[in-house]
Parts: sequence; C-alpha cells; structure tokens
Amino acid sequence: MTEHIKQLVEAAKKAASHAYAPYSNYHVGAALQLEDGSIVTGANMENASYGMTLCAETVAVAKANSDGHLRDIVAIAVAGGPEGKVGDVLCTPCGRCRQILKEVADLTQRDLPVYCAHADGYDTHLLSELLPHGFGPANLK
Ligand SMILES: [Zn+2]
Repeated sequence: MTEHIKQLVEAAKKAASHAYAPYSNYHVGAALQLEDGSIVTGANMENASYGMTLCAETVAVAKANSDGHLRDIVAIAVAGGPEGKVGDVLCTPCGRCRQILKEVADLTQRDLPVYCAHADGYDTHLLSELLPHGFGPANLK
C-alpha cells in the first residue's frame, strides 16, 4: 500500500468516527488529498428528516471549497460501516456524491482516484469508472 494512500484511507476511517449517524448507524468518513499533500476530511451527518442527510464526501468537498481549496483536490478516500469499523460491503460514494466529485474532476481536469476502504485495505477506482457519461459543466456550455 503506497504510504500516502494509506494515510488518506486512515484519515477517512478516523473521520468516520466523527459521523453523526444515529438513525442508520452507518458511519462514513471521507478524506480528500490536496495538491500540497494536506488532507481535508468530512463525516456523514444524518438528520431526522432523512433527505437532509449530508454524506461525508459532500461535507469534505464543501469544507475544501470553503477553505479555498476546491481546485487543489487530487484524490479521495472513503470508509464506511457500523460505528467503529469498516463494513464488510465496500463503501463507494453514492450517486449524488459521484456527481459532486465530477464537478471537482471537471474543474481540475483530473480523473480523481477514489480509494474505497475495506477490511483488508482499499480498492481503487477512477471517478470516470464510477460515473461514466456523467453530466457536467460541459453540458451547460
Ligand atoms: Zn453520498
């Protein structure tokens, strides 16, 4: 496991410990790698009105954006499962988060690697594999 990817995956796992997920007990953490090597994390935040729930990936991207680093994102790691552990089923970004990550990918002109944590390490996917033929800024030109 490449060291910087391992750090990113571990940051996602740690971020999951900050999830607010009292309804599903599905705790998700996301960690964005920025160009300068720094990491921005996010955790899911559920709401009694389920549709208001924020995913960890969305929180992390919004956090990076609010800090002025939206264009600096080069990769993302995601870890999810019951509180305190990585789930047996691979946690990949949901459809909405894939769309949000596509905005970043199009903005930065990078096909973002998405590292999805599991009990034995992580799987690597490219965003273009997770969201083929996605709708993006080019569609609105
Ligand atoms: Zn999501």
